[in-house]
Amino acid sequence: MQVNGFNVAIVLLAMALLIGWVATWWLYRRARQQVKAQQLAHSHVQALLDGLPDLTWVKDRNSRFLMVNAQFSRTFNRPLTEILGKTDADLFPASAAEQFWQDDKHVLDKAQTLRREERIPLEDGGEAWAETVKVPVFGDEGQIIGTAGLARDISERKRAEQHIQHLAHHDALTQLPNRVLLEILVRRHLEHHDARVDQLAVMFIDLDNFKVINDTISHRIGDKVLQAVAQRIQRNVRDEDIVARIGGDEFIVVMPFTAKAEAQSLVQALELQKPIQVESLSFDMTASVGLASYPEDGGDCWSLVQNADLAMYHAKHTGKNQSVLYNQALADRSLKTMVRNSRLIEALEKDEFSLYFQPKVDALSGRVTGFEALMRWQDRLTGEWVLPSDFIPAAERSGFIVKLGEWLIDRVTCQLAQWHRRGVALPVAINVSAVQVHQNRIAQKLKDSLSRHHLPGHLLELELTEGVMMEHSVKIIERLHEMRALGVSISIDDFGTGYSNLAYLSQFPLTSLKIDRIFVENIHTHKNHYQVASAILEMAKSLGLKVVAEGIENRDELRVMLDMGVDELQGYLFDQPLGVAELEPLLAAGFSYSERFPQRPRSLMIR
Ligand code: C2E
Ligand code: CA
Ligand code: CA
Repeated sequence: MQVNGFNVAIVLLAMALLIGWVATWWLYRRARQQVKAQQLAHSHVQALLDGLPDLTWVKDRNSRFLMVNAQFSRTFNRPLTEILGKTDADLFPASAAEQFWQDDKHVLDKAQTLRREERIPLEDGGEAWAETVKVPVFGDEGQIIGTAGLARDISERKRAEQHIQHLAHHDALTQLPNRVLLEILVRRHLEHHDARVDQLAVMFIDLDNFKVINDTISHRIGDKVLQAVAQRIQRNVRDEDIVARIGGDEFIVVMPFTAKAEAQSLVQALELQKPIQVESLSFDMTASVGLASYPEDGGDCWSLVQNADLAMYHAKHTGKNQSVLYNQALADRSLKTMVRNSRLIEALEKDEFSLYFQPKVDALSGRVTGFEALMRWQDRLTGEWVLPSDFIPAAERSGFIVKLGEWLIDRVTCQLAQWHRRGVALPVAINVSAVQVHQNRIAQKLKDSLSRHHLPGHLLELELTEGVMMEHSVKIIERLHEMRALGVSISIDDFGTGYSNLAYLSQFPLTSLKIDRIFVENIHTHKNHYQVASAILEMAKSLGLKVVAEGIENRDELRVMLDMGVDELQGYLFDQPLGVAELEPLLAAGFSYSERFPQRPRSLMIR
């Protein structure tokens, strides 16, 4: 029994040892399994993170990297050994590192998640944009032990956004700032400067006759001309100036710390008058410029631009190729013009326009050779007679001149038909604006009107200004030939005031040339005028053109013009433009103004 008892004790001890060993072994196995499982899980997680296209990391409280994924080390081109245990300050430029540290601190202090879009400097000097999420990491006792983060590369999206921003802020053709950016830049400048001491000039540049290039050569060449002009302006402004393109051929130059008068002295430096070379073509460009300045002409971008625009219009309509400073008087006048513009349409509907005819006189016989039709408008609201110089430019600007011009052709052909029926066959000249010729409908309109009234084409004459012919455009020449084919004569009006490029004249099917009134005025005392007029006459004669001197007001002027050898004369000395009823005596066959000619027989006056 004792042996048995001893044995039992041994067995029990052995069993206890065995159980203990088994338990220990089991516990050990379980622990090992757990560690293994953890290791397995860890490598699964690592594999998962390494497989992510995003950057992930874990940092301790001191912002030292404890773990990063493969994409992280790939992006910054560093092995793990160079990252783990380091901080942002060891890896990135100071300013970026400081920002990252501030973000980490925010997450640690506030125990909050932080999201932001951030610029990340790359090792090769480039940059990437990332959308970043940073979260706090908690320990067993709920204390914050570090941060974890994930950054997604959004560089592509950012680039697209920046591109869209650029598109929204720049003009696609010239890459200059557009209206949107112009406004932002001007606003920024005005906000940062003191209105009492700082001035800011706004220059509105509009190319003269640019449309002609587009219409008659091609839009492609037109675009290239605009690009060349943009480059030239940008090259010639000062560093602090802003150049923008706000419309077809409209450019703005904003000049900080500059008054408009000072800006005006800088217009020359822009070299707007220098010819523009595009492919094998050379274009003689000029521009009309208007100037306004802050603060006296406007307190914000658009009121300044609007007033500079107004001054530009004034520059354009008083001769082009010049600059004009904005002032209040211009503004008052433009208000009138606007009211007038809308009134013009109404005026045509209410038949407020009428025609006056000014006789043209033969230089040899003094007989009436025909008339020039001149428009008049009696505004029924005010009763005022408005001169063409007041409403034609407005009508040209708004395009209304095309309708008005068609009305004129109707009225003139109607009048001619009445006279024709009575056996009077004196031709009438009508003034045609450049807009009408470029519009292309005029040839057909003339044809229709002439045939409706069974009139021969030679009873009509068109007076075109030099501007129409500025471009050696095949289209314009063709159109003029079309009109000539109807028998209609074509004369060049106001000669000497436009581009005065005589060489191109021979290419156009012209019949006569009118020497502008400014050369006729006081020609007997102005040597200069005399020289210009006689040069024009000589040139016209060599081209086989009939020459008309317009604006003859006195006998002295008449004498010199007769002496010079012009073919026809026109002016107040003979008659002012007359109403239809007043014309009656002149319609009589053989009506002559010869009694107004100098007493001496003409033959003695010719040298
Ligand atoms: P323009 O074609 O040069 O017409 C001649 C202008 O000189 C007319 O002025 C006429 O009245 C004026 N004039 C004639 N003889 C004399 C003179 O001896 N001394 C002075 N100081 N002036 C003289 P108006 O009628 O005021 O016309 C001005 C301009 O308006 C015209 O200049 C023409 O360019 C334009 N215009 C007139 N009627 C029409 C029209 O029906 N259509 C178009 N497109 N333009 C027109
Ligand atoms: Ca005329
Ligand atoms: Ca004229």
